[in-house]
Amino acid sequence: MSIRDNVKRVLSQIPGHVTVVAAAKTRTAEEISEAIQAGITHVGENYVQEAQRVKASISFRASWHFIGHLQTNKVKHAVRVFDMIQTVDSIRLAREVDKRAGKLGIKMPVLIEVNSAQEPQKAGIMPGEMFSLLEALEGMEAVVVRGLMTMGPFEEDPERIRPYFRLTKELFENARDSYSSNNDPFVLSMGMSDSYRVAIEEGANMVRIGTALFGPRPVP
Ligand SMILES: *Cc1c(COP(=O)(O)O)cnc(C)c1O
Repeated sequence: MSIRDNVKRVLSQIPGHVTVVAAAKTRTAEEISEAIQAGITHVGENYVQEAQRVKASISFRASWHFIGHLQTNKVKHAVRVFDMIQTVDSIRLAREVDKRAGKLGIKMPVLIEVNSAQEPQKAGIMPGEMFSLLEALEGMEAVVVRGLMTMGPFEEDPERIRPYFRLTKELFENARDSYSSNNDPFVLSMGMSDSYRVAIEEGANMVRIGTALFGPRPVP
């Protein structure tokens, strides 16, 4: 199957209110261009420099989302490259985004990343701490909270991730009700190639899909 066929198939299976972010780590500018030409409108990248490089050689328009772990010292570049940062999980990181976006005179849409399974080694804010982070972000000038993102635990069987998607949906609804700084629809980003169907059933309106569009990632 070509990337083009994969994109067409996945997009045809996904309800219209759900945005597909093509998770493009390790993919070439040619591969990403093929996906965009086949209908992809949002591209996700995990590394700032990789994104800078491929983006520079892609002539098609898309919205670029940062979906990896963001180091504070990369924020300066990230706010120039990306249209949204999906992985804000601390006040420290948010402050840096606020400062760097502020210097450019832009607003930076962000999602709060939730560690929905409360795994010690994983990125994301603990569910119980989400509201204090949200409150801190509300006071920031350049950071605009647009919703939540979660990875969920790694499981072969996507049914085992369902409870964590459900929990994140509940947090999402509470956050949406209490955070009213803009009229744009709130985003709930969850679900990957093996789990996006379950995630959409549980309320995701954005999914991040790599393998199902581009094929298996080459083993380094
Ligand atoms: C790679 C990645 C995805 C997509 O994973 P696939 O299993 O290839 O669909 C989604 N979200 C994040 C944060 C990723 O790093």
